[in-house]
Amino acid sequence: MNYSQLANSRILEQPTYQPGKPIEVVAREQGFKPHEICKLASNENPWGASPLALQAGHEALEGVHRYPDGNGTYLREQLAEIHALSPSQFILGNGSNEIIELIGHVFLNPKDEVLFGEHAFVVYKLVALLMGAKPVCAPMTDLRHDLHLMREKVNQNTKLIFLPSPNNPTGSWNSEEEIIEFVCGLPEHVIFCFDEAYAEYLDNPPNLKALINEGRKIIALRTFSKIYGLAGLRIGYGYGSEEVIRLLQLARQPFNANSIAMASAIAALKDQDWVEECRSKNNRGLRQLEEACDSMGLPWVPSKANFLLIKIGNGTQAFQELQKIGIIARPMPDSLRDYIRISVGTSQENKFVIEGLKQILPLLGKV
Ligand SMILES: *Cc1c(COP(=O)(O)O)cnc(C)c1O
Repeated sequence: MNYSQLANSRILEQPTYQPGKPIEVVAREQGFKPHEICKLASNENPWGASPLALQAGHEALEGVHRYPDGNGTYLREQLAEIHALSPSQFILGNGSNEIIELIGHVFLNPKDEVLFGEHAFVVYKLVALLMGAKPVCAPMTDLRHDLHLMREKVNQNTKLIFLPSPNNPTGSWNSEEEIIEFVCGLPEHVIFCFDEAYAEYLDNPPNLKALINEGRKIIALRTFSKIYGLAGLRIGYGYGSEEVIRLLQLARQPFNANSIAMASAIAALKDQDWVEECRSKNNRGLRQLEEACDSMGLPWVPSKANFLLIKIGNGTQAFQELQKIGIIARPMPDSLRDYIRISVGTSQENKFVIEGLKQILPLLGKV
């Protein structure tokens, strides 16, 4: 008997998450020095974390022989103050991806359906499959979540709905008004998970807190991996009713959020000037990429996040050609095979990738 025969039957079918390729790997494969590589593959903050967050992280390093505060007391108190909720309405995660998994552990049974848009963030499907639940895709319109079409897919077995806004990898978003209408029209047995990974890039992110406090079944997720620039530390959080947070806390490991990450996150939250500056630099970067695409005749999907989905013809080939010149972009799954996703970089990185795109277009059969 081998291990595979002993494994549960689900794990053998589980698809693998394809992360953005790391700088060091591409440098080695393509014969570059790591500093020569321009990575625009994982929607990271190209300006990095706030210096205050880095300093707090360094200081926390001195105490790593101690276990972290398993309750995340200070960070949860600070989040409570920022969101005007109670600390018991917050759960911390090893990235918000961990909380997506915790939601699966707490709520999903094999007969349950998990509903999300056909081009939504891929982790929802992975978690549904891992739990043995049934992933259900709602069609999207012009690569944007269509909440009316999504509503039509809700049935007696629907347990969980994921909506990311802005969505990754499309960058498309939904208004507060349409989200509220959608949530208020859901039956009682459905939990709505609102993934706000890119909320800080919006001028006025949709606010569902009144609905949460009214008792609607909503779990919202945020992360420090994107605008806060702490992707490598793995820290995110969820908020909702005290009841749902209590259940999620039961499913997590005692020390899932580490001490360096929590200390850095606390300091990062205090530096909202940094966040604002990154938001406006990101907007300028988006315009820079959009205008370059327009001048090259490349269609793109309107985005309010820190990346742009560009219709390039053959996304996989474009990805490979860009790598040869030291640029890591993100190839897309088959359903978006004509596209490539490019994260907004510094203006210099954007220039570099624009030059790169110009250079590879003839190779893709475009002039
Ligand atoms: C990046 C991202 C997350 C969060 O990732 P973590 O690093 O695990 O916090 C969640 N949802 C979407 C849609 C994302 O793009």
